[in-house]
Amino acid sequence: MSAGVVIVGGGQAGFSVASTLRACGYDGPLTLFGAEPHLPYQRPPLSKKAHTGPDGPEVALVPESFYRERDIALRLDDEVVSLDPAARTVLARSGARVPYTRLVLATGARNRPLPVPGAGLPGVHAVRSLDDALAVGAALATARDVVVVGGGFIGLELARVALAHGARVTVVELAGRLLGRALSPELEPRLRERHERSGVRVLTGTAVQALEGSRRVERVVTSAGVLPADLVVYGIGAAPRDELARDAGLAVDDGVLVDERLCSVSDPWISAVGDCARAPHPHAAGPVRLESVQNATDQGTLVGRRLAGRPPEPYTGLPWFWSDQGDVKLRIAGLRAPSDDVRLAAGDSPERLAAYAFRDGLLTAVETLNWPAEHLAARRLLERGTPVTAAELAGTTLGALARARRTTEVRT
Ligand code: ADP
Repeated sequence: MSAGVVIVGGGQAGFSVASTLRACGYDGPLTLFGAEPHLPYQRPPLSKKAHTGPDGPEVALVPESFYRERDIALRLDDEVVSLDPAARTVLARSGARVPYTRLVLATGARNRPLPVPGAGLPGVHAVRSLDDALAVGAALATARDVVVVGGGFIGLELARVALAHGARVTVVELAGRLLGRALSPELEPRLRERHERSGVRVLTGTAVQALEGSRRVERVVTSAGVLPADLVVYGIGAAPRDELARDAGLAVDDGVLVDERLCSVSDPWISAVGDCARAPHPHAAGPVRLESVQNATDQGTLVGRRLAGRPPEPYTGLPWFWSDQGDVKLRIAGLRAPSDDVRLAAGDSPERLAAYAFRDGLLTAVETLNWPAEHLAARRLLERGTPVTAAELAGTTLGALARARRTTEVRT
């Protein structure tokens, strides 16, 4: 077999590398390994609505013909189990040994397991894969009492999906507030209030101690009492799938360590993209690992272009995130540091809210609730890198500021 580009991982990031390579004219051998039996699919919809199958084709990124027409060898339901960087080969679970000229790791992240007795009972689910989402979709058809463990992105999205299905829903969050990793403490009470008003019960500062039931889950024992449950879903964070790199002797630190071109710092023939990669970024103090579609797509595109022979470019794409939690549409542009100053601002209708984060008086990140125009204005301004000061933004919005700047640019 002649060597070419081998991509390990059939998620958004791996797909982005493969499609970009072909779009940029790379015509050598191209192999994409996916551990799951499904065609590469979008993950964000999995926790935003109930999926009832039969096989969830609505979430596939592109149909099978896309790969055939571009001569992309899809090796689905096969997992790379080891790398040999000296010989430049990968070994798959099927026994196939595939040589590469360039290797891209796009292995993603896995859910942190729920560390309590009873977590293996039927009726307890995480949602990362399409199969997980189908299992939850089937369970929701009859579930009356749903307990969601973890008040992060996935937990809150699933809480609202369960609520829409008519279930009684309780979110159990260990930390003192929801979305502690992503959302400013200033905006969090407003988000929590909206979920509670919709009927979700939220227990923060509450530990899950055990899941109990005779044949399937029936109750959740927490530090705040016992909750009845016929379905438990959990989303308590994810860890990068970086063990292939670590076992092969590449530098790893909660993610495969890569440089600004997304090459492994240990081996220039190997790149890493998406949830499994930790990369330097101009918006962050140190190397960061980002779990988002924007990051997976942009990093995949960058590596695809470089491996197709385009001049290497540094990774600088503005990080942004979205989470649809029922009628709560949360959008985040930029990376806020815990020490940033945050100011809340109301939009022109009661459901619109923004939190502006400033560092040394300059805008670094913007969180919005139900205010898509302000999110887009924030992305445009932060992407351009033109500074926005706290003084400039006093008493106005980013949308208005962007319009005023455009007018000034036209005049000058
Ligand atoms: P995800 O992508 O899984 O939603 P996040 O990091 O956005 O990940 O959110 C995970 C949430 O789960 C955080 O708010 C975190 O405090 C919470 N969490 C972590 N461990 C537990 C636990 N054992 N019980 C309840 N909540 C937990």
